[in-house]
Amino acid sequence: MTTNDELFARARQVIPGGVNSPVRAFGSVGGTPYFVARGEGAHVWDAEGTRYVDLVQSYGAIIAGHAHPAIVEAVQRAAVDGTSYGAPTEREVVLAEEICARVPSCQMVRLVSSGTEATMSAIRVARGFTGRPKVVKFAGNYHGHGDLLLAEAGSGLAALGLPGSAGVTEAAVHDTVVVPYNQVPQLDEQTACVIVEPIAANMGLVPPDIDFLHGLRAECDRVGALLIFDEVITGFRVARGGAQDLFGIAPDLTTMGKVIGGGLNIGAYGGRVDVMEVVAPLGPVYQAGTLSGNPLATAAGLAVLDLLDAAAYETLRRHAESLAEILRSAFAAAGVVAHVPVAATLVGVYLGDPLPSDYDDARATDEAAYARLFHGLLDRGVAVAPGAYEVMFPGLAHTDEVLSEVATAASEACAAM
Ligand SMILES: *Cc1c(COP(=O)(O)O)cnc(C)c1O
Repeated sequence: MTTNDELFARARQVIPGGVNSPVRAFGSVGGTPYFVARGEGAHVWDAEGTRYVDLVQSYGAIIAGHAHPAIVEAVQRAAVDGTSYGAPTEREVVLAEEICARVPSCQMVRLVSSGTEATMSAIRVARGFTGRPKVVKFAGNYHGHGDLLLAEAGSGLAALGLPGSAGVTEAAVHDTVVVPYNQVPQLDEQTACVIVEPIAANMGLVPPDIDFLHGLRAECDRVGALLIFDEVITGFRVARGGAQDLFGIAPDLTTMGKVIGGGLNIGAYGGRVDVMEVVAPLGPVYQAGTLSGNPLATAAGLAVLDLLDAAAYETLRRHAESLAEILRSAFAAAGVVAHVPVAATLVGVYLGDPLPSDYDDARATDEAAYARLFHGLLDRGVAVAPGAYEVMFPGLAHTDEVLSEVATAASEACAAM
């Protein structure tokens, strides 16, 4: 049997840090990452055959559980007919129709291959449409790793203690303005757009003040800037039409990813017709992709959306509430000071008090305590993200039976903290 340690040693020889995305390296919690051999429903098995209840769920790309039969079948059927053509396909049309039907503010949508591409493209569209340079983002919101959005970006950067990234020039972030979450900034007429996670889920879970989101809409309208909701996590997860559907606020542009690929590589951005008409070949804003609208990704996306009906969102909410209750009672019984915020179907853990409302507060979380919680759970067969700034992704497969495994592990792990 190949062990996790052997795989990690080999990986570090040929992949920086042994991983293809930094948080996976366990840098902030310590120890050796488990190398996943397979997953099914709410569980994953590592290379050594150890089984975990998986609350990582590909950081939100999986919502119906691993290897869901309907998604597997859709991908297999699509693969038989070829995996990429460089010509349009019917599935792209159907997926775009589905997205526009679900997301109230999207009249047109362009498919790309990742969330990063979606946010980079949406910003370019906003600048192209308005002819203005400035982009306003919120500290602790993550929008992928495009240069101009890598300032105060939460997520893996927060776990590594980095404010931004080396290799990003002053010029690249010259027109990026970073402001605190949950406070409406005063904009000016140089502002092309404001990009926001409508529910912040990359600095732990920080639910928005609803007046903040309404205030952003009004402030953007006042100066003629576009409002971009980055729904790469929240889209199709917190409600059928994402956070905008939940809160009843229409952004001008929306970025999506994760859930809509059913675990395959996809992203999308969409919005009002008059805005989206600036995108090439209709307009002057160039954006392209060899694998955009990929047959396997669109097949998986359509299969997952098909599972996400009203009953599915009820189930997701129930699972999120149950998970939160389990964690709250485990913390309380062990006397651990913690908050377990829930936003619709997302669950966060904050080790500290009071509950944060912005990045400054969020960074006060006790990272050492999180590392103890993480290993306490992992040793007892429950995998959560190896970083204090991520959230938990209970999905359709996290049934009461699965969550009872979490309950046992959580009460033992908290007691051991
Ligand atoms: C994950 C994420 C992204 C980036 O998506 P990738 O597919 O990892 O490039 C962008 N925005 C938010 C809110 C995310 O959570």
